[in-house]
Amino acid sequence: MTATVIDGKASAARLREKIAAYTAELKAKHNLQPGLATVLVGKDPASEVYVRNKRKTAEAIGFKSVHVELPADVTQAELLSHVKALCADTSVHGILVQLPLPKHLDEAAVLDALDPAKDVDALTPTNAGLLLSGRAHLVSCTPAGVMLLLKEYAGDIAGKEALVIGRSLLFGKPAAQLLLAANATVTMAHSRSRDLPGLARRADILVAAIGKPEFVKGDWVKPGATVIDVGINRVDAGEGKTKLVGDVDYESAKAVAGAITPVPGGVGAMTIICLMHNTLIAACAQHGLPLPKAL
Ligand code: NAP
Repeated sequence: MTATVIDGKASAARLREKIAAYTAELKAKHNLQPGLATVLVGKDPASEVYVRNKRKTAEAIGFKSVHVELPADVTQAELLSHVKALCADTSVHGILVQLPLPKHLDEAAVLDALDPAKDVDALTPTNAGLLLSGRAHLVSCTPAGVMLLLKEYAGDIAGKEALVIGRSLLFGKPAAQLLLAANATVTMAHSRSRDLPGLARRADILVAAIGKPEFVKGDWVKPGATVIDVGINRVDAGEGKTKLVGDVDYESAKAVAGAITPVPGGVGAMTIICLMHNTLIAACAQHGLPLPKAL
């Protein structure tokens, strides 16, 4: 048996079309243009690429894009004053502060300064709490993307065993909440979990967000399971080249799984478009308009 390859690029392209159409409608009917602000501190090359792609996508969809670029040695007070100004700007509906911030800055204090209504990465305690209460409009982008892929490829997941490996605020914790809300039986694993292969072998839905290249092996996968690989790891490909791999050993897992996300082209493809979807939701919510559904 070989698994169905989950095509994140195709799903992302479909969602992008829907968002662009909805955005055009908002402009025509309500004279409303969703606005996304990105805040980049310092010159980390990976963060620069992420932010550039987010801005490009926002502009291509028809959003207003505002960008604030600050030097790596910016003070906490200066950064906070920029964040507060964006919170007060009514043409900005979503604010994304690219993380990680340089070490001298207090990330939690920056997140606390964000208006939860504009927190399109859904990292503020308010949005984390709303997710826990089942009342969130804004859900962390990568877990939201994973749920859309599961909806398309795994159908109804009620009653299924789901294992999430990784418990980060950005991915693992919100992903587990969303799976629980979709009525899966959820187990969360982390670096202190015992018998990870044994836990994985029970999972109908196996989600890996660890940050360790090809860590999850094919013989950990239950035959027919849906495998969601969130990891993005750059590894040596020989001859001075590098390549991206996930947290799952793709070839061995593909031979056992029912469906699997590739890296790249799986989960990663959904993240940026889910950020755009969150910006659209934020704009509608701030103007008392019906919230657009992703599917
Ligand atoms: P993170 O904050 O570093 O969290 C990693 C998690 O993995 C932690 O909970 C950690 O456990 C757990 N872990 C580490 N070693 C483990 C082990 N040996 N066994 C079991 N669990 C272990 O990472 P993250 O932000 O969630 O990201 C995880 C991966 O997803 C990274 O490769 C990242 O690049 C990728 N990612 C991709 C996207 C995307 O758009 N596709 C978005 C976000 C993240 P402890 O809590 O016990 O330390």
